[in-house]
Order: sequence, then C-alpha cells, then structure tokens
Amino acid sequence: MSGRFVVVGAGTMGLGIAYVAAGAGYRVELVEVDPGRATAAGARLGELWERAVQRGKLTADAAAANRERLTLRPSLGEVAPEPDVVVEAVPERLDLKRAVLRDAAALRPALLGSNTSSIAIAELAAGLDRPERFLGLHFFNPVWAMALLEVVVGPATADETTAAAVALAGRLGKDPVVVRDMPGFATSRLGVTLGLEAIRMVADGVASPADIDKAMVLGYRHPVGPLELTDLVGLDVRLDIARTLQAAYGDRFAPPPLLEKMVAEGKLGRKSGQGFYHWDEGGRR
Ligand code: NAD
Repeated sequence: MSGRFVVVGAGTMGLGIAYVAAGAGYRVELVEVDPGRATAAGARLGELWERAVQRGKLTADAAAANRERLTLRPSLGEVAPEPDVVVEAVPERLDLKRAVLRDAAALRPALLGSNTSSIAIAELAAGLDRPERFLGLHFFNPVWAMALLEVVVGPATADETTAAAVALAGRLGKDPVVVRDMPGFATSRLGVTLGLEAIRMVADGVASPADIDKAMVLGYRHPVGPLELTDLVGLDVRLDIARTLQAAYGDRFAPPPLLEKMVAEGKLGRKSGQGFYHWDEGGRR
C-alpha cells in the first residue's frame, strides 16, 4: 500500500501522527515552520524507531523503511499537489488553524483533517475551499499507543469523506468513533468534566490527589486517575478547553480557581515538572 500523507506541525501530536502514518505504508511529509522544532522532531522520531526495534515491535529493516518514507518540509509550499490526506496539528488557535487549512486545501487533498481538541469544525471550515472534504481527525496522545480516532463530522462534511476517514482509521490501526460537531466532541467534554470535578475536590480537601486518583483507578477501573491525566495533558491545555466549553455550555464548565492559580504559577503538569504531582525523567513522584 502507498499513498501520500501530509502532517502540518511537528509537535507532540504531529510527530506521532506522522510516525503512525509512515508505519501504515504512507509516504509522509511532515511540515514544520520552526527549524529547531523540526530538528527535535527528527531526533525524536529516530528514537521512536530505535525503541520499536529494541522492543521487538519492528524489524530493523521495517524501521529503516518507515524512516525512509518520512520527509520533513519547512513549508506547505514545498509539498506537491493532490496528496491523499492532509492533517493539521498546529497549536489550538482559530486564526492559525484557518490559515494553515486554507493553504492545505489549495493542495486539493482527497481528505483534509484537523486534529483540534475543542474548536468546532464548522468554525474551521468557514471560507474553506471544498469543505465537503474536511472533518475533524482527533488523535490521542501518544498517538502510537492510543487506539481511538475521534472522527468529527462538520455540517458541510460529505458522507464519502466520513467513510474515507473511517477507512483511514482502519489503515492506521485505530478504532474510530464518529461524532457530531459539538464543542468538546465526545471525548474532551466528558474527560474534562471529570478532571474539573476532581480539581474542585482537591480544593475542598476531600482527599489527596493520589487518593482521588486511586479511588477512580481501583473503584471504577480507570487506567489513570483524572488528576494524573490532567498532569499528562497539561493544565494549560485543560484550562483552554474548559473555557471553550464554558462559553458553549455555561458555568458547569467554569474552570475551578485552583486550576487557574496553578496555571498562573506555571504548574502545567508533566511538561513543567510540577502539577498535581511532581514529575521527572522517571515519571510521576
Ligand atoms: P505543539 O505545540 O506540541 O505542536 C505544534 C507545532 O506546530 C509546533 O511545533 C509549531 O512550531 C508548529 N507550527 C505552528 N505553526 C505552523 C505552521 N504554520 N506550519 C507548520 N507548523 C506549524 O502542539 P500539540 O500538543 O501537538 O497540539 C497540536 C494540536 O493537537 C492542537 O490543536 C491540540 O489541541 C491538539 N491535540 C493535542 C493533544 C495533546 O495531548 N497535546 C491531544 C489531542 C489533540
């Protein structure tokens, strides 16, 4: 199987999507405007392939073939027209995503997706060329380990496009859910509800973060507790999503003052070394 797959943005999500697409046999072009980020992404991808070989998940030949199928590009202008798939994974800002999607649509891809975690597909599609080819392709972090692909169908998305996205999920080894274009989709809306309530419980002194998480892991069989998950996602990311959902659904999604305070103090979770837990190279402390 071949085909051309373009990913825009080589951050946490973009490099994961590119890694999985190369593993599925696509020729991948990973577009990153920041040269430092591009170098870091290339190094990280190299580590991922090396680790897959060490763990026996890939043969050395397969890893080398995947690596050969992936090319880093400094801009969309260097990508040839009519790729099979383009997925944007640039930061969660409406104006930036719209600009990137407009440039991506000019390449006339068969399928155009956004990895947004909270912005409505209808808003991203406004003014877009061929909006019937566009939808949300919401991958989860880390992309190579998480089975879910949330396919978000916008008001202008054609049925054939949704069917193509479901088929793409299968090729990438993902299990899709198809959801209507409502803020927070099916995942962020529920996941953030639990996270915000857990933060209010910490503020109320109900129990320690570790015991609140333990209660959900042992009592409800969640693989990780809501506070540890908030640390993994990033407190700043969750705060942004809470604000988006508050604007859409009202104060039941109002960010708890403790979350706002922690973000203001730079306690962003794993990425900053401190959130509800302390983090270092060895993981959660
Ligand atoms: P990130 O900040 O790690 O990466 C974004 C990358 O895009 C950066 O490297 C940046 O330099 C690059 N970029 C910016 N403008 C660009 C442009 N015009 N062309 C090419 N590259 C450009 O962000 P992330 O965490 O990977 O998130 C990306 C998207 O995925 C966001 O919409 C986010 O909401 C969503 N998302 C994130 C997660 C998560 O856990 N981090 C999970 C699901 C979805």
